[in-house]
Amino acid sequence: MSDIKVFEASPEAKGKAKQLRLFAILAWLLAMAGQIFAIVKLISDETLVWLIIAIVVILILAITGSVLWKKANKLDPASEKDSTRFFIQNQLGAIMGVLAFLPLVIFILKDKNISGKTKGIAGSIAAVAMVVAGITGIDFNPPSIEKYTEEINQQTEAAKNLNIDTDNVYWSKAGNKYHAYKDCHYIKGKNLSNGSIKESWEQKGISELCKVCQKKAKKSSISSDVKDLIETD
Ligand SMILES: [Zn+2]
Repeated sequence: MSDIKVFEASPEAKGKAKQLRLFAILAWLLAMAGQIFAIVKLISDETLVWLIIAIVVILILAITGSVLWKKANKLDPASEKDSTRFFIQNQLGAIMGVLAFLPLVIFILKDKNISGKTKGIAGSIAAVAMVVAGITGIDFNPPSIEKYTEEINQQTEAAKNLNIDTDNVYWSKAGNKYHAYKDCHYIKGKNLSNGSIKESWEQKGISELCKVCQKKAKKSSISSDVKDLIETD
């Protein structure tokens, strides 16, 4: 087919992704700093409560980083062609989640000055936090340029079959849908962008046809089919 459409993130999407990645890295750096502080200052029987508080704070920072990182990947996905980079980019949240706790767990378990009870409590809480941070960091369904490209072409085909003008759909900034009709009540009064289905993906990272517009298009394409039948009869 001649008009195969290959996804390429728009400059705005790339800019936003870059910003999200910076914030993600900042959150992870703070998590690491928190971990170093916990290792140096908080592994003792007297500061067990503070150690637990520190673990919770580190966990929140690690998860925040992962959420932002995944959001950025949705806007500006990696290509599957470079499999190492693809893996690292998509699973960096899991890697950072583990790194935010693994040294701390080791230091707690190896410490000779704390009681067995402290070791048990702090060690298991830190280990659980590590598992939680690792799992929430995993992207089980990582976005990719190839997946997006396939989606765009499938959706464009499907919309064409409904007689939707695939080069002239509408979308608002929020949400992850595009609309075939400008007067759809979901986008009424909103600041709209307008362009092809491909462009809606490139600006939003992920996009699909609004269900209301889909129904409306289905109805009108059926009625025009009926008209065609009557006319050809
Ligand atoms: Zn709609």
